[in-house]
Amino acid sequence: MHVRDRVADNGAGEIMGPHRFRNNQRMVPASEAAWQVVADNGMLDIRVDATNGQNRLRDVHTGHEFCNLSSCSYLGLNSHPLVIDAGIAALRAENISGLAMAECRIRLAAAEELEADLSALFGARVLPSISCGVLSAAVLPLLASGHLTDTAPLVVVFDKFAHFSMNFVKPIVADETLVLTCPHNDMEFLADLCKRYPRVAYVCEGVYSTGGRADLVGIRALQERYGMYVYMDDSHGLSTEGAHGVGYARSVFGELDDRTMIVASLAKAFGSTGGIAMIGASGKFDFLYRSGPMGWSQGLRTAAIGTTRGSIAVHRSPELGARQRQLAENIGIFDRRMQGRDVRGAGSHIKFVTVGDNDRAVRLSNELYRRGYYCSAMFFPIVARGQAGVRMMLRGDMTGAMTEDFVAVLEDVLDEFA
Ligand SMILES: *Cc1c(COP(=O)(O)O)cnc(C)c1O
Repeated sequence: MHVRDRVADNGAGEIMGPHRFRNNQRMVPASEAAWQVVADNGMLDIRVDATNGQNRLRDVHTGHEFCNLSSCSYLGLNSHPLVIDAGIAALRAENISGLAMAECRIRLAAAEELEADLSALFGARVLPSISCGVLSAAVLPLLASGHLTDTAPLVVVFDKFAHFSMNFVKPIVADETLVLTCPHNDMEFLADLCKRYPRVAYVCEGVYSTGGRADLVGIRALQERYGMYVYMDDSHGLSTEGAHGVGYARSVFGELDDRTMIVASLAKAFGSTGGIAMIGASGKFDFLYRSGPMGWSQGLRTAAIGTTRGSIAVHRSPELGARQRQLAENIGIFDRRMQGRDVRGAGSHIKFVTVGDNDRAVRLSNELYRRGYYCSAMFFPIVARGQAGVRMMLRGDMTGAMTEDFVAVLEDVLDEFA
């Protein structure tokens, strides 16, 4: 066995991990240095009063007011009265915060009703859980071993830009099967693997969290041609688009079959908390409830069941479309005015401007904050080394005028940085 595959022991009691998929000794110091710069610039650990909404947060220590462009609540449903009221009502009705046990044994009747309501809303079999990250941690190892497909193990191919919540289970997945990393959106690379291996699963995102989108048509074609399994995390696409907020992934993967699973967080645009997996009507997932993180003490909490039901009501109302259209209008405003500049994410609500080194990214984010907009600086390991920058997230609960104001400030600040 190659030394890379096992723990190295120098005989003096010092050991070193194989570091095949992760290297904290290298990664932690690199990112901690950058976080310290963020903290030194007063951009970390800000305490706010949010009662005036995300467009006017107030730092309770300095009184500084700002618009939050780092929130994944892309439609502002996290403060929608129907969502808030339904959360409170559920707690009052159930009179218990949760059952504190494995859901496969006993769960609230309200949890089952929620599952049915979500399935009806999204036209798929929907499995809700406490978070999207927990779903990935539960599903991916079982996908790898072939237990979701009733086959021998699958080669699991992670897109290079796949979210940390999926990447961090790579070592566990690699204990079951061969794990590979695919260059971002590289359909040729995937096609070659599908020709070489009879069973391949591709793990990717729909709308990528640092900008850009999956090549849905290309992925679908590979699935049809080679039977490739698709595990797609559409956390940033759910609610923001599609009828009833069904998401970006489902614009091509409409009717789900037994070779597709789409997962998403409900804590982002959906405006509640928890996560869902969507599969075809004939799919099976009961045993997932008994698989590790989904079977511990955190079943769906009563408050979460309530806020999710409240959000389902909004998703069924014309208001969802109105907020989606406002978001699309804001994206249009941003894209028109930023044309010709080097900003990633055209057509998407997630924008990323690359500035290079960490210090510059933090300074840019700091200057935007000073002028009333919180946009996160991002650096290695969230993005590649030397590709640090600032992420900006537009929302459908911002008016067009607010978006125009923001873009004017951004243009100004970018010109100063040029
Ligand atoms: C935020 C995020 C998650 C995590 O979702 P949780 O519900 O908080 O676990 C997973 N995947 C992607 C792509 C995300 O952006």
